[in-house]
Amino acid sequence: MVSQRMSSIHESTTLKISAMAKKLNKSGLDVIDLGVGEPDFATPQNICQAACDSIKNGETHYAPTNGIAELREAIAEKLCDENMLEVTADDVAVTPGAKMAVFAAFQALLEEGEECVLIGPSWVSYEPCAAFAGGKIAWSQVDEDFMPIDVADTITRKTRFILVNSPSNPTGAVFDLKILEEIRDLAVDHDLFVVSDEIYEKIIYDREHISIGSLPGMEDRTITINGFSKAYAMTGWRLGYLTGPKETMKWVTRLLSHSVSQATTFVQRAGVEALRGPQNAVAAMVEEFSTRRDLFVSGLQGMGIICNLPGGAFYVFPDVSEFGGGDLFTDKLLKDALIAATPGSAFGPGGANYVRLSYAASQERLKEALTRIEKMLK
Ligand code: PMP
Repeated sequence: MVSQRMSSIHESTTLKISAMAKKLNKSGLDVIDLGVGEPDFATPQNICQAACDSIKNGETHYAPTNGIAELREAIAEKLCDENMLEVTADDVAVTPGAKMAVFAAFQALLEEGEECVLIGPSWVSYEPCAAFAGGKIAWSQVDEDFMPIDVADTITRKTRFILVNSPSNPTGAVFDLKILEEIRDLAVDHDLFVVSDEIYEKIIYDREHISIGSLPGMEDRTITINGFSKAYAMTGWRLGYLTGPKETMKWVTRLLSHSVSQATTFVQRAGVEALRGPQNAVAAMVEEFSTRRDLFVSGLQGMGIICNLPGGAFYVFPDVSEFGGGDLFTDKLLKDALIAATPGSAFGPGGANYVRLSYAASQERLKEALTRIEKMLK
């Protein structure tokens, strides 16, 4: 038997699909895995070297719960310079992955029975995080460009915070200043928090990332989350962070101290190098993602599939309602085309018509995937 709280938590669809693709590949089938949520690039060498040096220097013991001072300082500097947030090192908590930062934010903010507003199809772990905290999700809808349309209607007396994830997983949508100001106005009028998950901040095309926490009125009501997994291809290192109002951060730190203790000490040294070292690998990765995005989107559109050109992240989220909806299409993709993808339904009720395909795969594999999809549709 398991507690009722736990029994409502479903398995992560993305991880399940990725495991299935790996199993099929092992059995000798050539599966193209477009279900993945991680960059297919190696972690830059200078970052790996910093971790190796740290181990050699004996940094293999406990560090402060919030993270080593040098990393918190580097993060605070980055948040001030790039994100226009007024943050000091004391306001930052380093976590083992941004996922833990999300988990901690939900635990710190949500009272039993309270609600978090999610805007359209959203990352698979937000809902379980709310459930772990005894809270619920209120789903608001988006238009055909995945922009919010009815956040105001979703707010009730139980609402505690609005979650903003721009650029978005799974839709790739990037919110502009006007949209962020509208969300800010709602948060201020209803005295709500905003949790801003900015993990895809650097993977953005032809536009600027704006941190909602930098808008006037948001200083004391925003928790900003970010990490190293996507920008520096460091998914396996488990390194993320969050910042927010001092009172909230006090409780976040307490949660971390009694659960994970800290992020791995020598991994934090790698984090310092990631932020302070050369940034050319990020720029090269984003350029490559941009080429793949254009290639993949135009290929899908050429087959008559309705597909937006996403502004950020490394996913396309085409509308496949014409082909029986996301669940059926994903099944067909795997069975008939040996392509692993994620059905849109994994991202909430608004996702049922869609399928998420990651373009964190080489151009050659993406071209092969397009050929297989075309064949499947015929
Ligand atoms: N937020 C979003 C929107 C994500 O897609 C992910 C990774 N899939 C995370 C947070 C967590 O990233 P990590 O724990 O690897 O830092």
